[in-house]
Amino acid sequence: MIKNKLPFGLYIHVPFCRSKCSYCDFYSATYNEDLAKLYVDAVISEFKSVLLEFDDIEFDTIYIGGGTPSVLSNKTLNKLIESILALGRFSDDLEFTLEVNPESAVNLKAYADAGVNRLSVGVQSLNNDILKSIGRIHTSTLALQVLEQASTYYKNVSADIMLGLPNQKLSDISTSISLIAPIVTHISAYILKLSDDSPLGLKVRDGITTIMSDDEMADQYECARDELMKFGFSCYEISNFAKSVNMQSRHNMKYWLRHEYIGLGPAAHSYINNKRFFNPPDLVKYLEFQTPRFPRTFYDAIPLTKQEEIFEAIMLGLRLTTGIDVGKLNTDFNIDFLTDYADVIKKVSAVTSYNNGHFAMLPGKMLLESAVAVEFLH
Ligand code: SF4
Repeated sequence: MIKNKLPFGLYIHVPFCRSKCSYCDFYSATYNEDLAKLYVDAVISEFKSVLLEFDDIEFDTIYIGGGTPSVLSNKTLNKLIESILALGRFSDDLEFTLEVNPESAVNLKAYADAGVNRLSVGVQSLNNDILKSIGRIHTSTLALQVLEQASTYYKNVSADIMLGLPNQKLSDISTSISLIAPIVTHISAYILKLSDDSPLGLKVRDGITTIMSDDEMADQYECARDELMKFGFSCYEISNFAKSVNMQSRHNMKYWLRHEYIGLGPAAHSYINNKRFFNPPDLVKYLEFQTPRFPRTFYDAIPLTKQEEIFEAIMLGLRLTTGIDVGKLNTDFNIDFLTDYADVIKKVSAVTSYNNGHFAMLPGKMLLESAVAVEFLH
């Protein structure tokens, strides 16, 4: 039984890619159709198992991400989508996002026919040299063609772009945005964050490649934000910009607002009843777990303490331009935020604001969010 009746989000992780990008440490394996069929059966089985346990859940968002969901054959992806939609209870205003990469986005109409109503395209850059250097296998021309075609089938099309890539100039960013922004309704602009596990991270660690300083990264972010504003986009989360409020990602908002969601597939995360769950980032293990049905011990459940929950709510809330809803925070955790954290609030007052019951980062200071959030740990 679920503690509240807010609709859930449903995330499905597709763990396949055609090739590995040099900056990426997401869990993915090389695509293989036989393995993909087994994977889809396992996801369906996991979903049935979840629904047996939480039979009163309604979902109002689905997000199929990865990996690269568009590497799945049309038949395999259709089976996944049809089965999920047939098994679960979904609200009438379901937001259904599918991530695609340009080189495999060949079934755009079929996805829409299957029920997808929001497409997220991994563009990253429109500079072919940069694309090649980070291991992307599409060209700028193909990316633009896919965006144009997508906009004929979907009212809400999002493009991912990256900032702070090696050799990326400010002019690359403004050119990419000026070409993408007129076509799409939403742009996620991610600053490069490298882990040592990624091929590029290893090169940086070993001194073979260098990446930009934090100041240079911040310049790239400012450049992207200013360019996006010229095209009528508003920032609603540090890395996310939408042409209007109803084009914001409702699914991703659940993460920042700490609403509940269920993740299916290897490496997928869930958040239910104040517990975070993680599926192992291992396709073989994931496939083994489905017999006879996914046991809850399959997950590594981590209950959060009250302090951890408060910190999480502050940290995630500060990512949003609307900031933290202080009244809700006080009610949720039985605290008095402005009094209990008065010293910290004073300390970070040069980069934050408190207006109309919301505590937020100042618009030009969003990138300091992590540093500000950490102050609330002490
Ligand atoms: S960035 Fe995307 S396409 Fe590239 S390896 Fe990672 S998940 Fe796959």
